[in-house]
Amino acid sequence: MIPGALFILLGAFSQWRGLATPAIVAFAIAIAWSVRQPAKHAWKSLKARRLDINTLMVIAVAGAIALGDWWEAATVIWLFDVAEWLEGWTVRRARFAVRSAMAIIPERALVRRDGTELDVAARDVVVGDVVIVRPGERVPVDGRLTVGATAVDQSPITGESWPVEKLPGDDVLGGTINGMSAFEMTATAAASSSAVARVVQMIEEAQARRAPTQQFVDRFARTYTPGVFILGAAVALLPPMVALVRGGGLVGFEASLTIWGYRALMLLVAACPCALVISTPVAIMSALTSAARRGVLIKGGAHLERASEITCVAFDKTGTLTHGRVTVTDVKGVGGCSVDNLLGVAASLESRSEHPIGRAIVSHAKTAGVVVSSGDDFRALPGLGAEARVGDHDVIVGSHRLFEDRQMCTPSLHAEFELMAERGETTVLVGRGGRALGVIGLGDSPKIAGVTAIAALRDAGVKWVALLTGDQRRTADRLRTEFRLDEVHADLLPADKVACVETLRATYGPVLMVGDGVNDAPALAAADLGVAMGTSGSTSR
Ligand code: ADP
Ligand code: MG
Repeated sequence: MIPGALFILLGAFSQWRGLATPAIVAFAIAIAWSVRQPAKHAWKSLKARRLDINTLMVIAVAGAIALGDWWEAATVIWLFDVAEWLEGWTVRRARFAVRSAMAIIPERALVRRDGTELDVAARDVVVGDVVIVRPGERVPVDGRLTVGATAVDQSPITGESWPVEKLPGDDVLGGTINGMSAFEMTATAAASSSAVARVVQMIEEAQARRAPTQQFVDRFARTYTPGVFILGAAVALLPPMVALVRGGGLVGFEASLTIWGYRALMLLVAACPCALVISTPVAIMSALTSAARRGVLIKGGAHLERASEITCVAFDKTGTLTHGRVTVTDVKGVGGCSVDNLLGVAASLESRSEHPIGRAIVSHAKTAGVVVSSGDDFRALPGLGAEARVGDHDVIVGSHRLFEDRQMCTPSLHAEFELMAERGETTVLVGRGGRALGVIGLGDSPKIAGVTAIAALRDAGVKWVALLTGDQRRTADRLRTEFRLDEVHADLLPADKVACVETLRATYGPVLMVGDGVNDAPALAAADLGVAMGTSGSTSR
């Protein structure tokens, strides 16, 4: 590129000083330098019987030379070369940015093989190795904790800002930060197939996939380029032929060919769609990469483009509009059940639950000093609650809807539920062996940032914002005022959320669903565009 520019300058200088031959030599060198790449590509596409912009450029340059316009030939091909180089540079930069996401994996790992502790490169850790991770260190590979107990900061991977407790048997992700104490784990994946590596791979695949606009541009170029050729040939040849027929003779034909040939070449160069062809992939690539750097993984250009058509956004509640840091605020037994007993039973069941409500009940019981045993046959009832066997009894914890469905909502339980739910708190009911034990009220703080996010969505053209939640009506209504939502739906099961998404689409157009990706998966899939919040390996589709 730079030699090309230098020789163009040299040629221009020579021309200015009236040195015709040196000027032509300098321009010829500049052309030879810049034309190599386009010529190679043009040859390749000609062999595949295609005409592309490279062919267009090479012919335009050849024509300009034939007409003796060396300066034009050299500058046009040099500019094209610069544009190509810029595109390549943007793509390389994007690749590099994604690769650097991998840098959160440490270089070295401490492993124990045959009883000796060795410091090895993280990429040399094999599945089954015993890896020792000290406090403050990053976990080198994905593994399962075997000895010790700790809390890890998973924010580099999942964005979850609170440390997550890890006990023997729990999975630990490579790239997360060990907080409390040293532990040992067995490697379950080599560094190259860790969760982070898969994420990087996903972004790279997304970048490789072509967006509709890009496909359109390709298709466009495929028919457009030959069209320009035909037009160019017509412009160059028709007027001279007319001149010939009109009796201008061969001299008239030649004179006319020079004029119109020149005009045809101008047409070819001016009609070159390189700006259009190059702009799209570069724009998409940059968008995907800068989103990835902010922790948003977009599956591909197609999904990115679909976002522009969205007119309606549906939010899940827990973990999406609220922080998902649920805390127990109120515990009330009925029929003589003590608070401790109620908490103990609920927490024993929830000890297996991944749901924020479950985790909140367990940690509240533990801080209250209540004995928590562990339940058997745990079963999550998505959008409703959970059930398990604790000791000799079937225990069930969940929403008012669940208790109504099972006809377990006694008058006294219902009265307590109403009292608590009145305040707009999430309220779950607890039953054991068919008997009502009490209610637990839980609080979760709304995300302040959600207000600005929703305002930004409206500015971007979203006409309707809805909340779809499995929680009770009054909690939903409270959020409705807080976030100035257009519509709220409460007491929904995962399948009801799908139905809501479909109604919203029929009424307001393309729907974007934002959810936590676990029990919202069906609704995310049903929406035109799905955004899954902060779970490990989160997917957007
Ligand atoms: P959201 O739509 O707010 O994300 P979910 O669909 O996860 O809520 O849950 C809906 C309702 O189901 C909760 O408000 C709660 O009443 C009940 N529920 C779900 N899982 C549990 C659980 N593990 N323990 C108790 N209640 C639960
Ligand atoms: Mg949810």
